[in-house]
Amino acid sequence: MSQECIFCRIINGEIATEFVYQDEQVVAFRDIAPKAPVHVLVVPRRHIPSLAHVTAEDEGVLGHMMYVARQVAEQEGVLESGFRTIVNTGPDGGQEIYHIHMHVLGGRPLGRMVSR
Ligand code: AMP
Repeated sequence: MSQECIFCRIINGEIATEFVYQDEQVVAFRDIAPKAPVHVLVVPRRHIPSLAHVTAEDEGVLGHMMYVARQVAEQEGVLESGFRTIVNTGPDGGQEIYHIHMHVLGGRPLGRMVSR
């Protein structure tokens, strides 16, 4: 845990936040500034700063985050309409909070993000 990390403080209950999902490895809660009708963050309990910092021992939790994103999408009613998962990494990736997390966005058409 990092004393400075806002997501660690949420996970430890220092900042009251409703979890839409939680288990022994990850929690999920609504983004404070939602960009879509559904905007949930899937966050590992363990403090990993970013995707640039992961090691082989993190493979399990990274895969689990993807599976939980699917569970959250089903719970939020967007499994069939579709949803987007995003992991921002580093300054050019637009990462603001340096505790790795996966955005789960849905509930409206999100458009094409990466042009072909
Ligand atoms: P990122 O740019 O990928 O690091 O995204 C960080 C996200 O965390 C942003 O979408 C913020 O709106 C969101 N956020 C920041 N503080 C909180 C908070 N206390 N509770 C929920 N979401 C937050």
